Order: sequence, then structure tokens, then C-alpha cells
Amino acid sequence: MIEGAPLTLFNSLTRQAEYFTPVHPGEARVYSCGPTVYNYPHIGNMRAYVFADVLGRTLSWKGFKLTHVINITDVGHLTDDADQGEDKMEKMAAEKAQSIWEIARHYTEAYWADIKALNIRQPADWSIATNYIEDMLDFAKSIADKHCYELPSGLYFDVSTVEDYGKLARAATDEGEGRIEAVEGKRHAADFAIWRKTPEGEKRQMEWDSPWGKGAPGWHLECSVMSGKLLGFPFDIHTGGIDHREIHHPNEIAQNQAFCGCGGLSEAANSGARLWMHNNFLVERSGKMSKSSGEFLRLQLLIDKGYHPLAYRLLCLQAQYRSELEFSWEGLAAALTRLKRMVLAVQALKKRHADKGQDPVEAPEGGWTFARLLDGIGGTLRPLAIRFDEAISDDLNTPVALTILEELLSLKKMPTDESLTLLGAMDAVLGLNLLELDRAELRLRPKGAAIDPAEIEAALERRKAARAEKDFATSDAIRDELAAKGVDVMDGDPLGWEWKL
Ligand code: AMP
Ligand code: ZN
Repeated sequence: MIEGAPLTLFNSLTRQAEYFTPVHPGEARVYSCGPTVYNYPHIGNMRAYVFADVLGRTLSWKGFKLTHVINITDVGHLTDDADQGEDKMEKMAAEKAQSIWEIARHYTEAYWADIKALNIRQPADWSIATNYIEDMLDFAKSIADKHCYELPSGLYFDVSTVEDYGKLARAATDEGEGRIEAVEGKRHAADFAIWRKTPEGEKRQMEWDSPWGKGAPGWHLECSVMSGKLLGFPFDIHTGGIDHREIHHPNEIAQNQAFCGCGGLSEAANSGARLWMHNNFLVERSGKMSKSSGEFLRLQLLIDKGYHPLAYRLLCLQAQYRSELEFSWEGLAAALTRLKRMVLAVQALKKRHADKGQDPVEAPEGGWTFARLLDGIGGTLRPLAIRFDEAISDDLNTPVALTILEELLSLKKMPTDESLTLLGAMDAVLGLNLLELDRAELRLRPKGAAIDPAEIEAALERRKAARAEKDFATSDAIRDELAAKGVDVMDGDPLGWEWKL
């Protein structure tokens, strides 16, 4: 049996691509830092979850039983990652004059809607930070004596008590970027809060009793606690955006080392997770990614402008996750066109298959894996399957994997059941929902559109009739009327897309 290519993944801790060997044979346990639910996620945040989703799908494809946890941060994250500023949740709640719980629920649901729209698979668990306060207190108590010290503002972790602090960030402990000593009395600039006491005379919306007074946990604590509790130390892979490589994850690692009473980071498992993986940023030049700018880039904004959310997913897949990706509307439009071409080709393939009277091709029980796929396709398509597996196993090379999928779609003479089988298997990794998507679904009506699609179709029918009778005056008049309502008539469009708004 062909085993498939070895899965190699880039480990930020060693700055090297490494072969994936699971901690528990046959299993893969993954923890992804989730959103802080004080506002809508921007599309950059969603790139982090598209990446984690492709990672999870790839682990399933390689035959591992996946347990994926994504957390929801509803407490503790300050406006500055390094212990400065206000609690993001408290701040937004005050601004909106709502309770933190209402804020958290609203933005968690908005985030889940984006997860669904981007066809990101549900993790085994959405762990919500405030459900783990007791566990956080137990964890903090267990490391307090050896690794922490108390100040009037809270309990702080002394980073000099663990070996190799900051290895992940590759930053010198005292001079690392962004480490301004904000809290009086900290022993080292990089020391961070494990517990933040509520200041004397104040009442916070979210506060709990602790041996160090009433207060709330520090942000880094929650991820150590939930990942350790739900996945067990060491687990396989911890993911997040590249910004987390600098402060949040080094601090998690230090806590995990302290908790496990284990040694230096030359042995990766001592950090709590064997592999630490980070997606690079989605960037946008004019600052629209910032949640503090008025109309910031949310997935819903893309949808309102008429872009199908899976066009954004495709845009993400067009870049390898470790490269920076620049967002532009032109780039998004090109991704939508590419998706339309794929969907048209899939529909043609499905039609050829149905015309032969064959049953629809279905995924095997338990979903597609490379091994199950090879049982179902014949010799001619095997090289494509193998190349696809090599690409995705090479640190998730989605740009190359996409071109192999397109190569498959360009082959017109293959047995349709085999082509559809291979297509379904590839899409199980890429998650573009190609077998279900209908061409018509890809055309979304922009929110501000003054005319609805049925009206446009009716006008185009009348125009067609006029042209058939060589009544070009009427035909042109209809075209102008449509143009006045923002409809662009596209005669002879190779994608058969006769109009756009
Ligand atoms: P936050 O809600 O700020 O904790 O961020 C959620 C996730 O999005 C984290 O993994 C961040 O590292 C990631 N992230 C933030 N900004 C971007 C961006 N522009 N591009 C890609 N990922 C990002
Ligand atoms: Zn985290």
C-alpha cells in the first residue's frame, strides 16, 4: 500500500520544518487560540481559522483521529498584549452600555457565523474561558510558590524561573520588542500577570475570589489551562497568528514549563505542545483591517459587496499560510472568478456523470483519507492524487494543491466516477464545498443594489427577444436602463455570467 508523503510542518519553536509524529499513535490533538469576543472578527482573524481548519483537514486526510479545540476569550485580554491598558471586554461593554455577557454572546455568535460561512469544520470543543476559572485558579496555585510573586496589582510570573524564556519569540528577555515596563515593581520587563487584582474601591463586571484577592485571570493563563486540561500535556500542535509568537505563546510556554515542572525547550514537548505553528498576517494598506477604523474589513462587508465568503477562503488558500497575504478588492474579485470557473467545471463534470445514469459519488464512512482514496481510483488519476498529497503534506502547500485540483478539472476524458471521487477527496482537504456549490449561489446581491435578480433576468429575456427581432434600439434601451440601476450586462462572458451588479 502507498503510505503517502510524510507530513512535514514548520515548527516555530525550532524554526524548522519537522516530520509530524503524533504524541498518541494514530491521533492528532490541536489547540488554536480563538478570538477575543469584544468585537467582530476581521477577515485577518479569520485567516487564522482557515489555516487551522486546513491543518485539521490535512491531519484527517493523513488518517489521524483529530481532536481540535478552539477557545473563546471572554475575559482577561487587555488592549495591549503585554499587560497594559484596559480589559477589551470591559471596555466594549462600557462603550455599548451592555453587560460583558451580552457582548460576549453577540460577538461569539457573529464569529461562529463567519466560521460557518467559510466552511470551517466545527472543532471538538469551543472552550469558553470563563467556564475554566476554577481550573485557572488551581493551575495558578500550583505554580505560584516557585514561579510567581505578588504586587499590589496582582500575581506575576517571574520569567527568570524557567529555562529558555522567549525562545519562541527569539527575543532577549529584557529587551524584547514591545516590552515596556508598565507595571511598577515587576522584576523583569517580560514578567506577566497571572492574576489581575481588582483595584481597591473598584468593582469589575467580571471578578472572582482568589488567594490574591478579588480579580480576573491574566490572558495567557487561560490557554495554558484549557489546552492542558482538554488535550493533556504534551499535545501535538498549538496554532495562532504570527503576533502570538512574540508574547502570548512564549508566556503560555513558560507557564506550561512551570506547571509540568519540566526542563528546557531543547525538548519540544516541554513547552506543552510539540509543534507551535503560526499563520502570517493578512495585510491591507489603507488600515481597514483595524477594528478601530469605521468600516473595518469583516466577512459580512465582503458579502454585502457581493462577494461569496468562499471566494475569501480561496483567496487565503492561494497563499501558503506562512507568507504574508495582501488583501485587495481586485484580488478578491479574481479569487471569485477562479472559484466560478471551478464550480462551472464541477457542474459540467457532474452533468456528464448524471447523463450516463450513474449514481452520485459519496464520501466513504469516516470521510476521505489518502489511503481510502487510493482504493477508489484507477491508474490514470493516481499520479494526480499522489502529487496532491505531496503538496498538502509539504507544510500545507495549498497554492500548489489548488493547481492540481484545477488540473483534474481540465481532464475531460476520465471516467467521471473516478474524477468525482478524486475531486471530493481533494475538496475534503481544501474545504471549498465544490461538490455542493451551485453557480447561481456564487452571485450574491450587494446590499445596496437597487434591483433584484429576477427583475434583471426578466429584462435580459426581453432584451434577447428584441435582439432576435433585430430591434437594436429596444435592446440598447434595456441595457441603458439596467446600467442606470447598477447592472453591468456582460455579453459573451466566457463564464456565462451574463450580468453583474
Ligand atoms: P484576537 O481576537 O486578537 O486574539 O485574534 C484572533 C486570531 O487572529 C489570533 O490567532 C491572531 O494572531 C490572528 N490575527 C490577528 N490579526 C491577523 C491578521 N491581520 N492576519 C492573520 N491573522 C491575524
Ligand atoms: Zn491563546
